[in-house]
Amino acid sequence: MRTIKIIKPHQLNEEFEECKNWLEIKYNGIDQNEEWKKIGLNDIYFSLCGFGIIFYSDPKFRLNLIHELTHIIQFLQKRRFCDLESIMNGLVYMTVIYPFLRPDLISFIERKRQEEENEILRKE
Ligand SMILES: [Zn+2]
Repeated sequence: MRTIKIIKPHQLNEEFEECKNWLEIKYNGIDQNEEWKKIGLNDIYFSLCGFGIIFYSDPKFRLNLIHELTHIIQFLQKRRFCDLESIMNGLVYMTVIYPFLRPDLISFIERKRQEEENEILRKE
């Protein structure tokens, strides 16, 4: 079982900086962009669910950060918004940072197969 701690502001910033640094390695030269340097946690909007608590070390928090920061990079590089890129970045990040999640990942084809199987079971 995974332990969950409630996130404190300084921890939020640590996670944010780690995600930003990870993307700076992937996108050569982005760390020299003046706008990028100014991007902070307040520039990212989170939709809170439940009681509005963000949990520290919840992989979904970092996944959202990588996703949204990728869109910021697309904007700064004057490229079209592309969810394929942000989703791929999130996926690569997750499998590198949280290798224990790898066995839980399934292919799109397998997901389709499972959905169809569930649909058949539901009708029976
Ligand atoms: Zn998106």
